[in-house]
Amino acid sequence: MNGGNERFQPVSGMEIPRFAGIATFMRLPHVALPDAGDVDIGLIGVPWDGGTTNRAGPRHGPRQMRDLSSMIRHRHHALKLSPFELANCADLGDSPVNPVDVDDGLNRIETFFKSVVGKGVLPLAAGGDHLVSLPILRAVGEREPVGMVHFDAHTDLWDSYFDGFKFTHGTPFRRAIEEGVLDPKRTIQIGIRGSGYDAEDRDYGAKMGVRIMDIEEAVELGPEKVMAEARAVVGDKPAYVSFDIDCLDPAYAPGTGTPEVGGFTTREAQFMLRGLRGLNLCGADVVEVSPPFDPSGYTALAGVTMMFELLCVMAEVQAGK
Ligand code: MN
Ligand code: MN
Repeated sequence: MNGGNERFQPVSGMEIPRFAGIATFMRLPHVALPDAGDVDIGLIGVPWDGGTTNRAGPRHGPRQMRDLSSMIRHRHHALKLSPFELANCADLGDSPVNPVDVDDGLNRIETFFKSVVGKGVLPLAAGGDHLVSLPILRAVGEREPVGMVHFDAHTDLWDSYFDGFKFTHGTPFRRAIEEGVLDPKRTIQIGIRGSGYDAEDRDYGAKMGVRIMDIEEAVELGPEKVMAEARAVVGDKPAYVSFDIDCLDPAYAPGTGTPEVGGFTTREAQFMLRGLRGLNLCGADVVEVSPPFDPSGYTALAGVTMMFELLCVMAEVQAGK
């Protein structure tokens, strides 16, 4: 890690107004990956929605999220810290993608994130649809399978779509378990709800030992007990966090492809993310923000606010190493 006064700081709104300048995540410097050796946490866009089975658009997520992230200031009011003082954070730009080829798109994302991990950088990614989590898990789980705290309306544990096609945003975690990069017994899925075609996804999860927590149970328990359960499930070993914006109620996040009513409030989600403090986090993502369905940008603001919550807990972990 860099010395305290060498860490990158966001451009202050006290010096340049926050609506001015070139948009980067949280107004951090843009650092090209080859120069990222001193970066502790890399904020990375993955502008790709090649796995989307329903309404498309998350390929546009990173650009709008960078724009709305100018609303984020330096200090977290409740955690009483600035992540930019605890860890060296930078915008590493966008992962390479291929919008017209699923296999090649996945390969490009995997190659990029393996370079990120190889440089000792913790990735904090902005999707993209949920299939982008698979190549990121291949990178962070390459040496040993990681645990995961997964917020979503959907399990994303289906086997295949369209007569056997295996790679969609409804299948990433089934593939990750099969490939041995995700440990199902150290995985918890929080906020699951909505109508389904059948229960095949849940049956697979149950068989593999995934802890599936429906929205009813999560609301009954409340954020604190939900996260006590999450910490117990993932334990002390490396854990990934995947935040599908559709875990939020569409009243708070209409800009997404597969909305399900009856979801979390933004405040509940913020409180839950704070419950990740102290976990051995190896990376995180916020996915499925689809700007075409919310030109107001409030869904993207919700997304980058969750990224800030994640950045704070990741920076604390990094500072403790
Ligand atoms: Mn999902
Ligand atoms: Mn979902």
